[in-house]
Amino acid sequence: MSTIFKKIIDREIPADIVYENEQVLAFRDINPQAPVHILIIPKEEIPTVREISGEKHAGLLAAMFDAANEIAKNEGISKDGFRLVINCDKNGGQEVYHLHMHLLGGRRMQWPPG
Ligand code: AMP
Repeated sequence: MSTIFKKIIDREIPADIVYENEQVLAFRDINPQAPVHILIIPKEEIPTVREISGEKHAGLLAAMFDAANEIAKNEGISKDGFRLVINCDKNGGQEVYHLHMHLLGGRRMQWPPG
C-alpha cells in the first residue's frame, strides 16, 4: 500500500527535496531531530528492511549510501560525522512503511539511542 512518501515522489504533496536521481529521492524531515535531518528513500515502493535482499537490491542500497555521503558533504556534516538510521517495524519505531534512511547530523548523537 502506498504511503505519504509515494505522494512526495509523485510531487502530489510538497517536500524540501535536497537530492534526486533515477533510484533515490531525499528530502528534509518535517519533524527534525537534529540540525540536519534528511530522509533518503528509494523511488521503488519497498515497505521495510525485511523486503530487502542483497542479491536483488545491491544497486539500490549502494545508491542510498552514495546519496547519504553526497548529501552529508553538501550539508557540511561529512567531516565531523553523522548518523544513518533505518527503523524497522513496531519495535524499531517505524511509522512510515516506505523504506527510508534517516541522515542525522550537526550535533553530537547519544548512545544508546533509546
Ligand atoms: P520512521 O519513524 O523511521 O518511520 O520515520 C518517519 C519519519 O518521517 C519521521 O521522522 C517523520 O517526521 C517523517 N515524516 C512524516 N511525514 C513527512 C513529510 N510529509 N515530510 C517529511 N518528513 C515526514
